[in-house]
Amino acid sequence: MSAMVDDTPFGDAPPPVLDEAWFAARATTGIQGLKAYDPGHDLVAFRRRCGDGRLVELGSNENPYGPSPRAREAILANLHMLHRYPDPLGGDLKRALSARHGIGTDRILLGNGSHELLMQMAQVFAGPGTDGTAPEVVAPRFGFAVFALATQAAGAHLRIAEPLPRDSAMPLGHDLDALLAAITPDTRLLYVANPNNPTGTWFGAGALADFIARVPREVIVVVDEAYAEMADAPDYASALGLLDAHPNVVVTRTFSKAYGLAGLRVGYLIGAPGLVAVMERLRESFNVNGLALTACEAALGDEAHIEQARIRNAEQRESLSADLRGRGLEVFPSQTNFVLVGFGREAAPIESALTERGVILRPMGGYGLPDCLRITVGDADENRRLLAALDECL
Ligand SMILES: *Cc1c(COP(=O)(O)O)cnc(C)c1O
Repeated sequence: MSAMVDDTPFGDAPPPVLDEAWFAARATTGIQGLKAYDPGHDLVAFRRRCGDGRLVELGSNENPYGPSPRAREAILANLHMLHRYPDPLGGDLKRALSARHGIGTDRILLGNGSHELLMQMAQVFAGPGTDGTAPEVVAPRFGFAVFALATQAAGAHLRIAEPLPRDSAMPLGHDLDALLAAITPDTRLLYVANPNNPTGTWFGAGALADFIARVPREVIVVVDEAYAEMADAPDYASALGLLDAHPNVVVTRTFSKAYGLAGLRVGYLIGAPGLVAVMERLRESFNVNGLALTACEAALGDEAHIEQARIRNAEQRESLSADLRGRGLEVFPSQTNFVLVGFGREAAPIESALTERGVILRPMGGYGLPDCLRITVGDADENRRLLAALDECL
């Protein structure tokens, strides 16, 4: 037998080079078409070069005031547990969320950031069908980048709905009629964020209820509410109030933005118990780490801290918007802790000039808005430093 073993299994042909293309050919179709996430800047290298506190980081919509002090205390009080696995059920955090939102714990799914949950929604509900149909996902053109990523990774086809006109009252905001019109019999999932990233725009309670009522029950609607805690417009309403009547709707939230805990990576989803049970099948048992679980539970108890963050953000958003408009720039209406700003020309040179001055913003070329930059609303000092740098660049 051993004489039969061919120790040159590729014959005379040279062995294949196991490079990216070789491995990609072995990946699923969806993954083959994907590009890895481009983080833009190497922030860690920037911070090292500039020294602590010198950078003005307004690119990722973090809370400039940081988390509740209770989150930090909870982490310090639990450091002796590092050798133990975390609670795979996330029971304490789920009970705290249950009390906060007035819903059962069986309707809550915890994620390592809501990014993970958005990805898994497509993986679970928009993967290739057993009947050979090509699943479709609907999302808005200027929606969160993860929606398209999740769709492609799942191997589904993305149908994009065009936004409201740029010269309308809600420029580039969601056109809910266009989203409805994009739904076909093959649509499994629809993603929409309210308020929206990267535009900052939102739609009101009446429009939301009307929209949800018109989506066919077979289509699962993901309402990404990453910025819900920052919204203070009288007409804004969360989709949470619609879940009882519409079990095909899920809401995602995050501790990364208003709660100031982006470094911990915790998000959650609220939906029908049956949907959550199916999603649980894919969840890695210890997907949220122990320190994160305890810190988020503590942060949730500090309602005054979130209230303060909302008030300070609204004040700063208003003054920053006015200061930017005063410089002749186009500032989109926002219910978030960032503003989309139009410069009336290619924004990339302005962005790199700002980066050289230690001010980090979010370029929008990848979103198809090359004349815009997205600016996180910082604290008063950060916003002042941003405006000073901007005046040097414009
Ligand atoms: C920041 C953001 C998220 C949050 O992502 P995490 O993974 O929870 O940090 C989700 N959706 C939108 C629209 C966002 O802007």
